[in-house]
Amino acid sequence: MKTGSWQQQLAGAFSRVGDLLNYLDLEDHLEPGMAAADNSFSIRVTHFFASLMEKGNIHDPLLRQVLPLSAEMENIPGFSTDPLADQAAHEGHGILHKYHGRVLLITTGACAINCRYCFRRHFPYADYQMTASHWSALLEQLRKDKTVREVILSGGDPLSLANGRLHTLIQHLQDIPHLRRLRIHSRLPVVLPDRLDEPLLDMLAGTRLSTSLVWHINHPREISTEFTQAVLPLRHRGIPLLNQAVLLKGVNDRVSVQTELSETLFESGILPYYLHQLDPVQGAAHFAVNDQEAAELYTLMQASLPGYLLPRLVREIPGAPSKTALTPSQNGQPGIDAGFP
Ligand code: SF4
Repeated sequence: MKTGSWQQQLAGAFSRVGDLLNYLDLEDHLEPGMAAADNSFSIRVTHFFASLMEKGNIHDPLLRQVLPLSAEMENIPGFSTDPLADQAAHEGHGILHKYHGRVLLITTGACAINCRYCFRRHFPYADYQMTASHWSALLEQLRKDKTVREVILSGGDPLSLANGRLHTLIQHLQDIPHLRRLRIHSRLPVVLPDRLDEPLLDMLAGTRLSTSLVWHINHPREISTEFTQAVLPLRHRGIPLLNQAVLLKGVNDRVSVQTELSETLFESGILPYYLHQLDPVQGAAHFAVNDQEAAELYTLMQASLPGYLLPRLVREIPGAPSKTALTPSQNGQPGIDAGFP
């Protein structure tokens, strides 16, 4: 279901659990416990993403990613509101500096969809609102730090920013001589393919910075015909497209799903990059796949996929100098391997 510009589609996203369940013919599944979870992290789903869900199926893997559940309100030991210590890595002015040579900019708190397992679901975006003076301080900080080679735009979802703001930001970044690469992490075109409009495509292709896009796609059914068509101009412009997924119980924790995901990504010109173990964020414990199960799944993936279609199974550990690879050892038990950048 598509009506209007991408901004209008964004504004018309489902923001009430009952409306989404009605649309999916699942109104009987509305439970009081969903309201508390919704109050803690509100539901937000574009109509386009909802149109990819199977009607009448409460276990639909796309629906599971966005439907508030009472299980989110349980306090589970080991799950916290800031699982990656983002607030400790914050250098001020919206910059997170975790790894050498790269910085991550929190450009916005807005997303087109609210994923229930999001590691930033408790992030205090309101405290990180960027004013004009924040932006100039941020750029000044980047100008001074000559060790930084790559800027990663994150959020929220950076593609929820208007083209004008993105254009200004990219212009400023490319004027900093020591910056070489720009990476944009986004889920927005997956749930709203119209976002990849002509001005945005031109902007991404026109910067002197070597640009890559990292999508966030967890299930092969998220790779719609519309999305595949929308990314085609990026492929034609030679912009590398990668994907990172999160391993989620009840969504993509089967080898058949992971295999189909990698193969469909590749057919759309996207390389599987990372498969992340869930960040232990409060409210998402019901999505967790333990390391033993993850290692077993990965062994099956290794046996089913060529190496170039095998994402790296990783976990982010706060304070570590890189992502940490989880590898199955000889006896099938999970192990920790060297890090990935
Ligand atoms: S799109 Fe990304 S940042 Fe936004 S809620 Fe989902 S996982 Fe979080």
